Amino acid sequence: MSRAVTQSTAHELTNSSSEAAVLVVDDTPDRLEFLELLLKKAGYRVIGARDGVEALELARRWRPLLIVSDVNMPRVGGIELSRTLRADPAFASTSILLVSALRVDDASAVEGLRAGADDYLEAPFDPMRLVAKAARLVERARFEAALRESEERYALAARGANDGLWDWDLNSGRVYYSARWCEMLGLGSAEMRGGSADWLSRVHPEDSPNLAGKIAALARGADTHLEVEHRVRHADGSYRWMLTRGTIVRDATGKALRMAGSMTDLTERKRLEEQLVHDAFHDALTGLPNRALFMDRLGRAVERAKRDEDCCFALLFLDLDRFKTINDSAGHQIGDHLLTQVATRLEACVRSGDTVARFGGDEFTVLLEGVNSADDAVKMADRVQDCLSPAFSLGCHELYTGASVGIAHSATGFASAEEMLRAANIALHRAKAEGRGRHRLFDAALHARASALLRLETDLRRAETREEYGVEYQPIISLTDGAVAGFEALVRWRHPERGVVYPGEFIPVAEETGRVTRIDRVVLTEACRQAMHWRNLAGVSARRLTMSVNLSAKSFLLPDLTEYVERTLQETGLSPEELHIEITESVLLSESEAVRVTLFRLREMGIALHLDDFGTGYSSLSYLRRFPISAIKIDRSFVQVVGPDGENSQIARAVITLAHSLGMEVVAEGIEERHQFGQLREWGCAYGQGHLFSKPLDPDRARRLLEEASAPPS
Ligand code: C2E
Ligand code: MG
Ligand code: MG
Repeated sequence: MSRAVTQSTAHELTNSSSEAAVLVVDDTPDRLEFLELLLKKAGYRVIGARDGVEALELARRWRPLLIVSDVNMPRVGGIELSRTLRADPAFASTSILLVSALRVDDASAVEGLRAGADDYLEAPFDPMRLVAKAARLVERARFEAALRESEERYALAARGANDGLWDWDLNSGRVYYSARWCEMLGLGSAEMRGGSADWLSRVHPEDSPNLAGKIAALARGADTHLEVEHRVRHADGSYRWMLTRGTIVRDATGKALRMAGSMTDLTERKRLEEQLVHDAFHDALTGLPNRALFMDRLGRAVERAKRDEDCCFALLFLDLDRFKTINDSAGHQIGDHLLTQVATRLEACVRSGDTVARFGGDEFTVLLEGVNSADDAVKMADRVQDCLSPAFSLGCHELYTGASVGIAHSATGFASAEEMLRAANIALHRAKAEGRGRHRLFDAALHARASALLRLETDLRRAETREEYGVEYQPIISLTDGAVAGFEALVRWRHPERGVVYPGEFIPVAEETGRVTRIDRVVLTEACRQAMHWRNLAGVSARRLTMSVNLSAKSFLLPDLTEYVERTLQETGLSPEELHIEITESVLLSESEAVRVTLFRLREMGIALHLDDFGTGYSSLSYLRRFPISAIKIDRSFVQVVGPDGENSQIARAVITLAHSLGMEVVAEGIEERHQFGQLREWGCAYGQGHLFSKPLDPDRARRLLEEASAPPS
């Protein structure tokens, strides 16, 4: 910085020596003329003023280094003039010498110095003494001016030794650039002309209007500080990001004198920022755009397509087949490696304007621009799947993977990126349901299905408040004597427009949306109430009937399930032995300690737990030991395949044998044929239900059945 200061001082001195102006103020014309002559002879440019008011005006215009003023003048005197000048920062370095025609007493001399004068001289004075004082005061003023300027630069420089400094004299239009400023732009002194063009002509065309606007605002007084980020061309032709800060110096009238400030190189910081932004929008493993960036681009594409229907595009939603298996068996490193190679292949298979993104896990999305029709989108999906079909060689492994693809085309008309993504995801789920390596287009049929689901969700919510749920009861038959051993309560939805809706249609949706737990409770309460009602009916066999109620895995996640069951039994009067609760394997698979505790508490209360749909899930009888399960219900898919000669009966038989070995009862579901009934009975299966005996019945018909105490067909 010392170099900058020396330069500036030199600059100031050379600039001002020829212009060193002295203002002489005296109300006596003779004395004024004498002083003017005296100082002119001494080599100064002298300006004369006849009183304080005129002096102030001329001082502002000429900026003298020295003012020699009479003390006693009409209107504004020398002391007041001194005070006014000192209050103005523009005259901070101007020297003031007071002279008096009369003998000044000590008091007024002191007052003059207090008011800001630098020296005084009383009459009569030696002309040479005046010239000597003037010379000293002019020198001091020059020095002060230079010092002040360099002090300001120092202050700016203190912000960081790496900043370049600039100082723009608005009167002369000259700009001082520090050595560091020039160095930051690779500029030598030869390129510098000392004007604002040295800087402004190098500013990036995109940034220059903003910079010019901010400088103008500072000059106008609309802003007090300048702070602009802009690019400037380096001598090597590249653009560098700079932060220019600045401030303005004005005189007492508010006239702008100088603008000065610093320039900081932001290039590296910008690069880091860009890196951070890149990282925030890209997947670290594959380097592909991530979900956030993809959604942003998809959103833009959707908006474009809304404005212009010729802007067609397609969205592919891919899910790798078997990835979990590969990851678990070959290890995460191989899994990562595979994802990277998939990313590379996908990128190679689309055009440069398209976006391939890693959406998460083994999900990838592709935005295909300029795809005119849904047919073309399907062809693209084919191509994408083809490119993934050759083996991937990962170190010593050779692996195959494929992808299921959901496709959505802009012509369907999507309101938002989220909506289009949901559509592609729905199509993906359909594709996966059909098997591996398939693709499926989100079309009118899927659309209808999706909106039906949406309607179902809304309707389900309404069904609770309008009490649209009812219960049917399917008899459970003792296979040994054909008597009705109990009932299974099955929910029915009496939809106001659609009539009766069966649980297969709405229970999965209710499970997904969390509404199933309320349904379970409605059915539980109603079934218990109904069971008590039948028990109290005269004419019904004295035999104790059981009531089986299905509870979703979601119901087991609620902490108050046992209390609810207990309260329901109390309120209805049914005994726990009369209630069976049917659970699915997903309840056992939850591995939650709380769920286990709930199951044991229910069992301790005396309620039997039946494992429903056995054989359709992860069927391993061994883990059943860990739970207090009383009976297994063989799923009807194993019962219904049993042929007249006992063919396809292996699974059903094995389940019965194993259940017995674990001390559990077996209930066979979906018995439709007499031979199935006969065989199951032969294998020792104690209970069964199915259309052969009875379909689920409304309460009235169930009651009649009980009253008739009908025997099973034999
Ligand atoms: P599930 O518990 O296995 O109930 C047996 C299902 O098989 C019933 O279907 C019943 O009508 C049907 N079924 C019985 N015998 C035969 C037969 O011989 N042939 C055929 N083809 N089907 C037969 P539904 O009533 O449609 O219920 C379907 C499923 O919905 C139930 O399967 C159960 O998992 C669920 N569900 C029913 N009510 C409730 C409930 O209140 N809460 C919960 N969470 N789920 C329920
Ligand atoms: Mg059931
Ligand atoms: Mg079942």
